[in-house]
Amino acid sequence: MADKTIQPVKILYSGKAKQVYAAPDKDLVIIHYRDDATAFNGEKRGRIEDKGIINNKLSARFFRLLEEAGVPTHFVSLLNDRQMLCKNVAIIPLEVIVRNVVAGSLAKRTGQAEGVELPEPMVELTYKDDAQGDPLVTEEEAVSMGAASKEEVERIRQMALRVNEVLRPFALERKLRLIDFKLEFGRAGDGKIILADEISPDTCRFWDAETGEKLDKDRFRRDLGNVKEAYIEVWNRIGDYQPAPAV
Ligand code: UDP
Repeated sequence: MADKTIQPVKILYSGKAKQVYAAPDKDLVIIHYRDDATAFNGEKRGRIEDKGIINNKLSARFFRLLEEAGVPTHFVSLLNDRQMLCKNVAIIPLEVIVRNVVAGSLAKRTGQAEGVELPEPMVELTYKDDAQGDPLVTEEEAVSMGAASKEEVERIRQMALRVNEVLRPFALERKLRLIDFKLEFGRAGDGKIILADEISPDTCRFWDAETGEKLDKDRFRRDLGNVKEAYIEVWNRIGDYQPAPAV
Protein backbone atom coordinates (compact mmCIF):
# COMPACT_ATOMS: atom_id res chain seq x y z
CA MET A 1 0.00 0.00 0.00
CA ALA A 2 1.06 3.64 -0.48
CA ASP A 3 3.12 4.86 2.46
CA LYS A 4 1.40 7.80 4.17
CA THR A 5 3.43 7.61 7.37
CA ILE A 6 3.11 10.58 9.71
CA GLN A 7 5.90 11.40 12.14
CA PRO A 8 4.57 10.69 15.66
CA VAL A 9 4.90 13.51 18.20
CA LYS A 10 5.21 11.35 21.31
CA ILE A 11 4.00 8.06 22.70
CA LEU A 12 0.76 8.38 24.68
CA TYR A 13 0.12 4.77 25.64
CA SER A 14 1.71 1.36 25.18
CA GLY A 15 -0.71 -1.56 25.41
CA LYS A 16 -0.31 -5.32 25.10
CA ALA A 17 -0.57 -5.37 21.30
CA LYS A 18 -0.74 -1.73 20.20
CA GLN A 19 0.88 1.63 20.84
CA VAL A 20 -0.86 4.97 20.61
CA TYR A 21 1.12 8.05 19.52
CA ALA A 22 0.13 11.69 19.44
CA ALA A 23 -0.19 13.01 15.87
CA PRO A 24 0.78 16.58 14.91
CA ASP A 25 -2.98 17.38 14.85
CA LYS A 26 -3.96 17.12 18.53
CA ASP A 27 -7.40 15.77 17.68
CA LEU A 28 -5.80 12.71 16.06
CA VAL A 29 -3.66 9.77 17.19
CA ILE A 30 -1.54 7.20 15.37
CA ILE A 31 -2.26 3.61 16.39
CA HIS A 32 0.55 1.12 15.77
CA TYR A 33 -0.30 -2.60 15.64
CA ARG A 34 2.42 -4.97 16.86
CA ASP A 35 2.81 -8.77 16.54
CA ASP A 36 2.79 -9.33 20.31
CA ALA A 37 0.08 -11.64 21.60
CA THR A 38 -1.08 -12.02 25.19
CA ALA A 39 -3.85 -14.00 26.82
CA PHE A 40 -5.28 -14.63 30.27
CA ASN A 41 -4.75 -11.05 31.43
CA GLY A 42 -1.13 -11.01 30.23
CA GLU A 43 -0.11 -14.31 31.85
CA LYS A 44 0.54 -15.99 28.48
CA ARG A 45 2.78 -14.12 26.07
CA GLY A 46 3.92 -14.77 22.54
CA ARG A 47 4.25 -13.40 19.04
CA ILE A 48 2.18 -14.07 15.95
CA GLU A 49 4.21 -13.10 12.91
CA ASP A 50 2.53 -10.38 10.78
CA LYS A 51 -0.47 -10.24 13.12
CA GLY A 52 0.00 -6.47 13.46
CA ILE A 53 -0.27 -6.01 9.70
CA ILE A 54 -3.35 -8.24 9.40
CA ASN A 55 -5.15 -6.70 12.40
CA ASN A 56 -4.41 -3.14 11.22
CA LYS A 57 -5.86 -3.81 7.78
CA LEU A 58 -8.76 -5.94 8.97
CA SER A 59 -9.74 -3.32 11.56
CA ALA A 60 -9.64 -0.65 8.86
CA ARG A 61 -11.88 -2.81 6.65
CA PHE A 62 -14.41 -3.33 9.47
CA PHE A 63 -14.38 0.31 10.58
CA ARG A 64 -15.03 1.47 6.99
CA LEU A 65 -17.89 -1.01 6.69
CA LEU A 66 -19.40 0.20 9.98
CA GLU A 67 -19.05 3.87 9.02
CA GLU A 68 -20.91 3.10 5.77
CA ALA A 69 -23.65 1.53 7.92
CA GLY A 70 -23.89 4.68 10.05
CA VAL A 71 -21.86 3.57 13.09
CA PRO A 72 -19.42 6.35 14.06
CA THR A 73 -15.87 5.07 14.67
CA HIS A 74 -12.48 6.55 15.54
CA PHE A 75 -10.99 5.41 12.22
CA VAL A 76 -9.69 8.13 9.88
CA SER A 77 -7.29 6.43 7.43
CA LEU A 78 -4.65 3.75 6.97
CA LEU A 79 -1.11 5.21 7.12
CA ASN A 80 0.99 2.14 6.36
CA ASP A 81 1.00 -1.64 6.98
CA ARG A 82 1.00 -1.32 10.74
CA GLN A 83 -0.46 2.11 11.50
CA MET A 84 -3.82 3.83 11.25
CA LEU A 85 -4.78 7.42 11.91
CA CYS A 86 -7.66 7.72 14.37
CA LYS A 87 -9.62 10.36 16.24
CA ASN A 88 -8.27 11.04 19.70
CA VAL A 89 -10.84 9.77 22.21
CA ALA A 90 -11.05 9.26 25.95
CA ILE A 91 -11.59 5.52 26.26
CA ILE A 92 -14.61 4.52 28.35
CA PRO A 93 -13.30 1.88 30.80
CA LEU A 94 -15.70 -0.85 29.71
CA GLU A 95 -15.14 -3.92 27.54
CA VAL A 96 -18.37 -4.47 25.67
CA ILE A 97 -18.86 -8.09 24.66
CA VAL A 98 -21.48 -9.16 22.15
CA ARG A 99 -22.31 -12.84 21.87
CA ASN A 100 -24.21 -14.82 19.25
CA VAL A 101 -23.05 -18.29 20.26
CA VAL A 102 -21.90 -19.75 23.59
CA ALA A 103 -18.10 -19.79 23.91
CA GLY A 104 -15.23 -18.91 26.22
CA SER A 105 -16.05 -17.39 29.57
CA LEU A 106 -19.83 -17.71 29.02
CA ALA A 107 -19.47 -21.48 28.55
CA LYS A 108 -17.36 -21.65 31.71
CA ARG A 109 -19.66 -19.47 33.78
CA THR A 110 -22.96 -21.10 32.80
CA GLY A 111 -21.88 -24.67 32.01
CA GLN A 112 -23.45 -24.46 28.52
CA ALA A 113 -21.57 -26.19 25.72
CA GLU A 114 -19.50 -24.08 23.33
CA GLY A 115 -21.24 -23.72 20.00
CA VAL A 116 -24.84 -23.44 21.25
CA GLU A 117 -26.59 -20.65 19.34
CA LEU A 118 -28.10 -18.03 21.68
CA PRO A 119 -31.82 -17.26 21.19
CA GLU A 120 -30.82 -13.65 20.58
CA PRO A 121 -27.56 -11.69 20.70
CA MET A 122 -26.53 -10.62 24.19
CA VAL A 123 -24.34 -7.82 25.49
CA GLU A 124 -22.05 -8.15 28.51
CA LEU A 125 -19.98 -5.44 30.15
CA THR A 126 -16.69 -5.85 31.97
CA TYR A 127 -14.96 -3.06 33.84
CA LYS A 128 -11.46 -2.46 32.45
CA ASP A 129 -9.19 -3.12 35.41
CA ASP A 130 -6.32 -5.59 34.94
CA ALA A 131 -5.72 -5.77 38.70
CA GLN A 132 -9.28 -7.07 39.19
CA GLY A 133 -9.16 -9.26 36.05
CA ASP A 134 -11.73 -7.13 34.16
CA PRO A 135 -14.76 -8.13 36.28
CA LEU A 136 -18.17 -8.65 34.71
CA VAL A 137 -20.47 -5.77 35.75
CA THR A 138 -24.16 -5.02 35.33
CA GLU A 139 -25.24 -1.82 33.57
CA GLU A 140 -26.16 -0.34 36.95
CA GLU A 141 -22.75 -1.24 38.37
CA ALA A 142 -20.99 0.32 35.36
CA VAL A 143 -22.93 3.54 36.02
CA SER A 144 -22.35 3.47 39.78
CA MET A 145 -18.60 2.93 39.22
CA GLY A 146 -18.56 6.10 37.11
CA ALA A 147 -17.56 4.38 33.86
CA ALA A 148 -20.35 6.12 31.95
CA SER A 149 -23.75 7.69 32.49
CA LYS A 150 -26.96 5.64 32.27
CA GLU A 151 -27.75 7.22 28.88
CA GLU A 152 -24.22 6.50 27.64
CA VAL A 153 -24.40 2.85 28.74
CA GLU A 154 -27.71 2.46 26.92
CA ARG A 155 -26.27 4.12 23.79
CA ILE A 156 -23.20 1.85 23.95
CA ARG A 157 -25.45 -1.21 24.19
CA GLN A 158 -27.48 -0.14 21.15
CA MET A 159 -24.32 0.64 19.15
CA ALA A 160 -22.78 -2.73 20.08
CA LEU A 161 -25.90 -4.58 18.86
CA ARG A 162 -25.87 -2.53 15.65
CA VAL A 163 -22.20 -3.48 15.08
CA ASN A 164 -23.27 -7.10 15.38
CA GLU A 165 -26.10 -6.60 12.86
CA VAL A 166 -23.53 -5.32 10.35
CA LEU A 167 -20.61 -7.67 11.02
CA ARG A 168 -22.45 -10.96 11.47
CA PRO A 169 -23.96 -11.25 7.96
CA PHE A 170 -20.83 -9.70 6.41
CA ALA A 171 -18.71 -12.44 8.01
CA LEU A 172 -21.17 -15.20 7.14
CA GLU A 173 -21.14 -14.23 3.44
CA ARG A 174 -17.42 -14.94 3.69
CA LYS A 175 -18.06 -18.32 5.37
CA LEU A 176 -17.13 -17.09 8.84
CA ARG A 177 -19.44 -17.59 11.82
CA LEU A 178 -19.12 -14.60 14.16
CA ILE A 179 -19.36 -16.21 17.59
CA ASP A 180 -18.63 -13.24 19.85
CA PHE A 181 -16.49 -10.12 20.02
CA LYS A 182 -15.28 -7.35 22.29
CA LEU A 183 -15.66 -3.65 21.57
CA GLU A 184 -14.37 -0.52 23.25
CA PHE A 185 -15.90 2.92 22.96
CA GLY A 186 -14.52 6.40 23.53
CA ARG A 187 -15.69 9.98 23.92
CA ALA A 188 -14.57 12.27 21.11
CA GLY A 189 -13.75 15.96 21.69
CA ASP A 190 -17.42 16.91 21.34
CA GLY A 191 -18.42 14.29 23.94
CA LYS A 192 -19.99 12.04 21.31
CA ILE A 193 -19.52 8.30 21.85
CA ILE A 194 -17.75 6.55 19.00
CA LEU A 195 -16.44 3.03 18.45
CA ALA A 196 -12.70 2.77 19.17
CA ASP A 197 -9.96 0.13 19.68
CA GLU A 198 -9.76 -2.65 17.05
CA ILE A 199 -11.86 -5.35 15.38
CA SER A 200 -9.74 -8.37 14.51
CA PRO A 201 -9.24 -12.09 15.24
CA ASP A 202 -7.65 -10.87 18.51
CA THR A 203 -10.99 -9.48 19.63
CA CYS A 204 -13.55 -11.59 17.72
CA ARG A 205 -14.18 -15.31 17.64
CA PHE A 206 -14.54 -16.49 14.03
CA TRP A 207 -15.35 -20.12 13.25
CA ASP A 208 -15.34 -21.56 9.76
CA ALA A 209 -19.04 -21.68 8.86
CA GLU A 210 -18.80 -25.18 7.43
CA THR A 211 -16.19 -27.05 9.48
CA GLY A 212 -16.40 -25.09 12.76
CA GLU A 213 -12.62 -24.65 12.72
CA LYS A 214 -11.50 -21.83 15.02
CA LEU A 215 -9.91 -18.99 13.06
CA ASP A 216 -9.03 -16.54 15.83
CA LYS A 217 -6.95 -15.94 18.94
CA ASP A 218 -8.29 -19.09 20.62
CA ARG A 219 -5.69 -20.93 18.51
CA PHE A 220 -3.05 -19.04 20.50
CA ARG A 221 -4.89 -19.14 23.86
CA ARG A 222 -5.50 -22.89 23.62
CA ASP A 223 -2.27 -23.92 21.81
CA LEU A 224 -4.17 -25.25 18.80
CA GLY A 225 -1.35 -24.57 16.30
CA ASN A 226 -1.54 -22.83 12.88
CA VAL A 227 -2.13 -19.49 14.58
CA LYS A 228 -0.65 -17.27 11.87
CA GLU A 229 -2.40 -19.34 9.19
CA ALA A 230 -5.78 -18.68 10.84
CA TYR A 231 -5.23 -14.90 10.82
CA ILE A 232 -4.19 -15.06 7.16
CA GLU A 233 -7.29 -17.11 6.35
CA VAL A 234 -9.55 -14.46 7.91
CA TRP A 235 -7.68 -11.76 6.00
CA ASN A 236 -8.02 -13.69 2.73
CA ARG A 237 -11.77 -14.08 3.22
CA ILE A 238 -12.46 -10.53 4.37
CA GLY A 239 -9.64 -8.28 3.22
CA ASP A 240 -9.13 -9.45 -0.30
CA TYR A 241 -12.68 -10.56 -0.83
CA GLN A 242 -14.09 -9.51 -4.20
CA PRO A 243 -17.79 -10.20 -4.55
CA ALA A 244 -18.82 -11.92 -7.76
CA PRO A 245 -20.01 -9.39 -10.38
CA ALA A 246 -23.79 -9.17 -10.63
CA VAL A 247 -25.16 -10.95 -13.71
N1 UDP B 1 -12.08 -10.57 24.38
C1 UDP B 1 -11.09 -9.64 24.08
N2 UDP B 1 -10.32 -9.16 25.11
C2 UDP B 1 -10.48 -9.55 26.39
C3 UDP B 1 -11.50 -10.48 26.69
C4 UDP B 1 -12.28 -10.97 25.66
O1 UDP B 1 -10.93 -9.24 22.95
O2 UDP B 1 -9.74 -9.06 27.27
C5 UDP B 1 -12.93 -11.09 23.30
C6 UDP B 1 -12.63 -12.54 22.98
O3 UDP B 1 -11.70 -12.64 21.94
C7 UDP B 1 -13.98 -13.06 22.56
C8 UDP B 1 -14.98 -12.21 23.34
O4 UDP B 1 -14.28 -11.05 23.74
O5 UDP B 1 -14.17 -12.84 21.18
C9 UDP B 1 -15.58 -12.90 24.54
O6 UDP B 1 -14.53 -13.37 25.35
P1 UDP B 1 -14.83 -14.22 26.66
O7 UDP B 1 -15.57 -13.38 27.65
O8 UDP B 1 -15.46 -15.50 26.28
O9 UDP B 1 -13.42 -14.41 27.33
P2 UDP B 1 -12.26 -15.47 27.09
O10 UDP B 1 -12.88 -16.81 26.99
O11 UDP B 1 -11.59 -15.00 25.85
O12 UDP B 1 -11.42 -15.27 28.32
